[in-house]
Amino acid sequence: MSDKPFRVLPELTETTRHFWEGGQERELRFPRCQSCGAWIHPPTPLCPECLGKDLAIEAVSGRATVLTFTLNHQQWVPSPDHPYAIAIVELEEQEGLRLTTNVVNCAAEDVGIGMPVQVIFEQYEDVWIPLFEPAEEA
Ligand SMILES: [Zn+2]
Repeated sequence: MSDKPFRVLPELTETTRHFWEGGQERELRFPRCQSCGAWIHPPTPLCPECLGKDLAIEAVSGRATVLTFTLNHQQWVPSPDHPYAIAIVELEEQEGLRLTTNVVNCAAEDVGIGMPVQVIFEQYEDVWIPLFEPAEEA
């Protein structure tokens, strides 16, 4: 058994590669509309805010807040990290810019709504999975 939890890895495509490979540079990346500044996730060919087509990949700060979470106690597959927290976090850059992720590097029971977290990356082959850990005090 590996010391890392089991993960089903995503297929990299031209529209998702920036996201899964960003961790190599310790960057959490999303498309951003160059017309109105909106961050876009999941990727779309047009900006959902202004329908602009001029999108570029940019990195966010990686700082976020836990919006909601659940604790998984079921051992679905052999894995070292039970129980673990599955959370929806919102990036500080924009209301609604959210990821479903795991909160790690703390006891699962210590995860709470409103908790400040920051991104870290866990590498599997050519994929860097964005996870979140409790944020250091500013
Ligand atoms: Zn826009």
